Amino acid sequence: MVIVMRTRDKQKIDNVVKEIEALGYQAHLIWGVEKTVVAAVGDERGKYQLQALESLPGVESVVPILKPYKLAGLEVKPEKSVVDVDGIKIGDKQVVVMAGPCSVESREQILETAEAVKEAGALILRGGAFKPRTSPYSFQGLEEEGLKLLAEAREKTGLKIITEVMSAADLHMVAEYADILQIGARNMQNFPLLKDLGTVDKPVMLKRGMSATVNELLMSAEYVLSSGNSQVILCERGIRTFETATRNTLDLNAVPFLEQHSHLPVIVDPSHGTGIAALVGPMSKGAIAVGADGLLIEVHPHPEKALSDGSQSLRPEAFRELMHDLAKFAEAAGRTL
Ligand code: PEP
Ligand code: MN
Repeated sequence: MVIVMRTRDKQKIDNVVKEIEALGYQAHLIWGVEKTVVAAVGDERGKYQLQALESLPGVESVVPILKPYKLAGLEVKPEKSVVDVDGIKIGDKQVVVMAGPCSVESREQILETAEAVKEAGALILRGGAFKPRTSPYSFQGLEEEGLKLLAEAREKTGLKIITEVMSAADLHMVAEYADILQIGARNMQNFPLLKDLGTVDKPVMLKRGMSATVNELLMSAEYVLSSGNSQVILCERGIRTFETATRNTLDLNAVPFLEQHSHLPVIVDPSHGTGIAALVGPMSKGAIAVGADGLLIEVHPHPEKALSDGSQSLRPEAFRELMHDLAKFAEAAGRTL
C-alpha cells in the first residue's frame, strides 16, 4: 500500500512510519517533487489495517500498489531516479559510458585500458576481478589483487570503477574498492546476495539473467530496494533465444518497457548482448535511440590475447571512434555523452 501524505511535516510522517511498522510492515519513504509517499511493504493480508491509517493527521489517501514490484515501480515514484556515483549522475541527461576489459588481467593491461577509455570519454572503468566462468578451468579472475589494480587505475585516471561481486562472503571486501557493485546475469536471482546488498552503501547494477523476463528483473531489483539499498541501476545484457548467430539476443524492447514501468536507470551492455565486436557499435547507437541511460562496453588493448571475452571486446582505437560517433546519436536523442 502507498500512504500519500498531504504534508512534508516530519513529525506527521514519522508518526505514519511508526504505525506502519507497528503493523509489521516495512516503511519506505519516497520524497517526490509533488508528493511525499510512504510505501508500506509486506504481507498483502494486512491491507485493511493499513487502509485505516487514512484517518491519521497529514494523510491524504491510502491506495494499493497494484504491481508486484512495489518499490521499483512508477506507482510509488513516478519521477525518474538518478543514481549519483560521486557526482556522475546515472539516469539524468548524460548517457554514461562504462568501459574496460571483461577481466582485470594485469597492472599493465588495466592501466593502459583505463587511460585509453578515459581519453575517449568514458566516465566509469569496468573490469571483473571475480569472474563467473562456465568452466572451472577457465581464468577465474585476480580477486582482491584485481580490485587493488582497479583502485590504482581510479587513482591515476579519476575514473570511477564498477566490478562484479559474486558472493555474499566477498561483498564487504568488494564494496571497499568498488564505486558500483555489479551483480552478474548468473546471480540475478541469488536472493540471499540480493538481500545482503542492503548492508552496503554502494550503488548496485543488476544485470538481467540470460533467461529472465523483464518482470523477473524488476522483482530482483525489488529485493535490493526492499533490503534498504535504493541505489539500483538495471542492465539489459541480452537473453538466450533460438538464435545462435550471436552470443545473445540484445532485447532493446526491454529499455523503453523498463522506462515505462520503473523509475530506475537502465544501462545497455551491447558486448555481452551480441558477443561480436563488430556489432557493438550499431547496437550502442540503437540503445541510445531507445532511451538507454548508459552503456557498458568491453574494451581490451589486445583482444586476441584477452583471458575472457576477447571476441566481443573493442580495441581502444575502435572505442575512441565509436565514442565520437555516439556523441551525435546522443545529441539527436536529446542527451549528452
Ligand atoms: C561481465 O560483465 O563481464 C559479465 C560476466 O556479464 P554477465 O553477468 O552479463 O554475463
Ligand atoms: Mn565479459
